[in-house]
Amino acid sequence: MAWGAIATWRMAHDGVIEALRLLEKQQSAGDAVETLIKTVEDYPYYKSVGFGGLPNAEGILEMDAAFMHGDTFEIGAVAGITDVKNPISVARKLSKDKFNSFRVGEGATKYSMLEGFERKSMLTERAHKIWEKRLKEIHENNLNPYDGHDTVGAITLDQTGTMTAGTSSSGLFMKKPGRVGDSPLSGSGFYVDSEIGGATATGLGEDLMKGCLSYEIVRLMGEGFTPQAACDKAVYEFHDKLTDRYGKAGAFSLIAMNTQGEWGVATNVEFTFSVGNNQAEAQIFIANMGANHTTEIQPITQEWLAAYEKRIKAPIE
Ligand code: ASP
Repeated sequence: MAWGAIATWRMAHDGVIEALRLLEKQQSAGDAVETLIKTVEDYPYYKSVGFGGLPNAEGILEMDAAFMHGDTFEIGAVAGITDVKNPISVARKLSKDKFNSFRVGEGATKYSMLEGFERKSMLTERAHKIWEKRLKEIHENNLNPYDGHDTVGAITLDQTGTMTAGTSSSGLFMKKPGRVGDSPLSGSGFYVDSEIGGATATGLGEDLMKGCLSYEIVRLMGEGFTPQAACDKAVYEFHDKLTDRYGKAGAFSLIAMNTQGEWGVATNVEFTFSVGNNQAEAQIFIANMGANHTTEIQPITQEWLAAYEKRIKAPIE
């Protein structure tokens, strides 16, 4: 049986390696996706997910996360959760509940405490410094505050054919308190059906929600499209439609994997992702929108990786 994992952004690469290691040892897709996302949540230099994530406009780090099981369609999600070490684990636990499985704000935080999840102040000194600096720049230069965000979204396929999807995000940078993006929303941020495949999204949540693109990609794969053809069709047709009817399409990038471990991506901005399966080791790629509703995908270069490493660890002046 085929198995594999795909996840958004370069930041997910170590998690993808770990997920593939578990999948190779016949562990479950659910454990693999949770481990993958926890790896990103725990790394302090990623400023858009979990520990080290950037806070909202009032300086509070509010996080969103979701988990979906592709056999049973169970979904668990949290939005605006605070001070919890691994929001993805809370979401996965909630997916077992028949009722109250999507919790927001205080209710989500309270649930995680009652269930014994690890409490942690997730706002690092570094993230707070970046936030302060950014706040100053926005005021001084009249900049768009909503730039610079990235969600980790992942899909896993295990050796029994089970597929799962997960997301975790601190959401849009400088979001207003209580703002929720696409990441915890089924159909927009993620969707998975073990008989077809799965998809997850990253980008401007307000616009991703307008197209329910994760569901649309899974639906197209169900009609026989390859993951790549499904991503291209769903993402670029919606990009055009939104530009036409709404005036502008925000940045968005989608990834997909099917039951054979085949994958695809589509994006309207430069986008990195990591993927591997039973035939190929985890590898980081860079994707861009190509001509005529296609996607250009290339392996990442060493120069790109070195510059990235330097950028995320640069001192904050
Ligand atoms: N989709 C996330 C949100 O809107 C942010 C991102 O993925 O960049 O909350």
